[in-house]
Amino acid sequence: MKHHRLLLSIIAGAVLGVLFGTFFPEQAVRSGFLGELFLNALKMMVLPLIIASLVVGVTNLGDVRHLGSLGIRTVFYYLVTTAIAVIIGIILVLWIQPGQGFGVFAGDLPEQIRSKEQFSYKDVLMGLIHPNLIQAASEFQILPLIVISIIFGIALTMVGPRARVVVEFFSISNEAIMKIIHGIMYFTPVGIFGLIAHRLGVTGGGDAFVELITQLAKYCGTVILGLILHGVFVLPLLLWIFSRRNPFIYFMNLAKALLTALATASSSATLPLTMECTVDEAKVSNRTASVVLPLGATVNMDGTALYEAVAAIFIAQCYGIAMGFGEQLTIFLTATLAAIGAAGIPEAGLVTMVLVLQSVGLPIEGIGLILAVDWFLDRCRTTVNVWGDAVGAAIIDRFEASGENS
Ligand code: ASP
Repeated sequence: MKHHRLLLSIIAGAVLGVLFGTFFPEQAVRSGFLGELFLNALKMMVLPLIIASLVVGVTNLGDVRHLGSLGIRTVFYYLVTTAIAVIIGIILVLWIQPGQGFGVFAGDLPEQIRSKEQFSYKDVLMGLIHPNLIQAASEFQILPLIVISIIFGIALTMVGPRARVVVEFFSISNEAIMKIIHGIMYFTPVGIFGLIAHRLGVTGGGDAFVELITQLAKYCGTVILGLILHGVFVLPLLLWIFSRRNPFIYFMNLAKALLTALATASSSATLPLTMECTVDEAKVSNRTASVVLPLGATVNMDGTALYEAVAAIFIAQCYGIAMGFGEQLTIFLTATLAAIGAAGIPEAGLVTMVLVLQSVGLPIEGIGLILAVDWFLDRCRTTVNVWGDAVGAAIIDRFEASGENS
């Protein structure tokens, strides 16, 4: 009952945010601090949560061989679902042809993309290890922290019984962190209201938003249709087949996290709520969720992968550059990698798209064509990213449980 009341308040917060941002954009911009406060509270908990939950998760698995089987299942799930998402995107963009007759215009690229013109796969690999953990944490670079937390967990299991006191420390810290997150959750309705109202306000209100979307209606429609196909049909079907859960109930359990993803455009900032909803409400075991979700928030991005493929081919269509089967295959591979390499922060996918464009020789300036609507599509794809992580946790949990019983 308490959960339902909170969910209804969050939905009301989102709807009020849309209305306020649509009709009173100037005042809405001023209410942005409410959203920022909420976002900061979530972000504040992300790093401690990732470190504690991964250390506890890995040590709970005990034997490194268990970690191996969980790891293989997790990576397999991530790759298969990401690949399905990219294929949906490619089929739709080739069929709808949103870039046909769209033409090109020169737009300014933001610094964050200009500075990535030399971005390569080596950078993705180098991002796994950081020489300075404090700096990585302060820059919100999560991947090196994930890597060291997993390694530290493995090292603790190798130390043996003497490590018990350290494991206990992380385990109790993890519980305390979850309690704090539980408290932050009650601020979600106001936070989501502030985030949505502010974003619409910055755009200039409802009319400006509609005008923006109409200019790129076919492109936005293609991405959103793909996200719906993947999020409403493919993932629920996988959930139902492999975890035997009712997709609708699972979706309702996750609704708070999904709305937060929509409002924040960040899988990482949403992680505390994804964890809370998956474990506390959907009753996925903490053992699985504490490893699969932190990893998923950074690595598994179905929505981003789908969007990268659509956007790259859309840009090719705008420039009138034909994409043969070879190029499509390259886009399939690079969009998958670019999504894995994208951080769980707002508009990260836009930056890693440089990789996809470069791989098939498309002009990076093409990103200028889709820049204006990216903040909106980012919110939509982040929601699917988080949904994909949560579905993965349920499916992998079921396999883990049946593996243990056999
Ligand atoms: N904002 C997305 C996320 O956090 C990443 C992206 O830009 O696609 O999941």
